[in-house]
Amino acid sequence: MNFTFSYPLYDMLFIGIYLIVLSFIFGAVFASFITCTAWRVVRGEDWKMGHSHCDTCGHELSTTDLFPIVSYVALKGKCRYCGSKVPPRDLIFEILLGLLFAGTLALHGFVDAAVVAALTLEVLLLGLSLADWDSGVIPDGFLAAILVVWIMTVGFRPDVQKFAIEGVIASACVGLLMAVGTAIVGKIIRSKVSYGTTKLAMCLMLFLGFKGSVVAVIVGVVLGVAFALVCKSKKRKVSLAPAISLAVIAALIFKDVLAMIAPAV
Ligand SMILES: [Zn+2]
Repeated sequence: MNFTFSYPLYDMLFIGIYLIVLSFIFGAVFASFITCTAWRVVRGEDWKMGHSHCDTCGHELSTTDLFPIVSYVALKGKCRYCGSKVPPRDLIFEILLGLLFAGTLALHGFVDAAVVAALTLEVLLLGLSLADWDSGVIPDGFLAAILVVWIMTVGFRPDVQKFAIEGVIASACVGLLMAVGTAIVGKIIRSKVSYGTTKLAMCLMLFLGFKGSVVAVIVGVVLGVAFALVCKSKKRKVSLAPAISLAVIAALIFKDVLAMIAPAV
């Protein structure tokens, strides 16, 4: 017997739009959660517990104040209790992560271990980039979470052996290059340098394989220089986690695009 699932085109279109809207909402909700988490980690608060509160008046926020995007628009970007303006940064990241979630699913076409890993990474990368930008430190908890995502999803990849071996080799090579580079920079500027970005890159290369790592390194170097110049011009500590995060997201998108236009490569 030959089973073929064929939905009418109209239904397929409806299901596609439904899934994309749903993934946008999930992206916005996760962005709301992770921006709050990053903010708490940076300020040394307990990230698991307690209600969110207004940064100006300290009033505890109710559930209706916490809907991503919707609450911000409904309250016109102001605190319901004291009327102070809430910066639009979180709103922007909620929209961006929503779009990234929707784009990732639309590009990949179906849900598998690679998509679950990509979506989880996108959430964690947003969190650690914000933490690095605000404090200059990439919290180890985020790196541990990235490793957990790899361990939990690697076994479900169809090409598990190739994926794991390529990832480990790419991680070791990029890690070595970055560690040497960081040490040289440390000698030149004669001050203590942090290996946080090296550790971050090593964790992320595990997901990319050879081709993805090459893309990530090229994009990462270009964006890294751009971010370093922006930080210098603003006279603030150089934060490279956002550059590395964007490079890895570019590499993940590149992998999906490559799989779509040239599946055999
Ligand atoms: Zn307030």
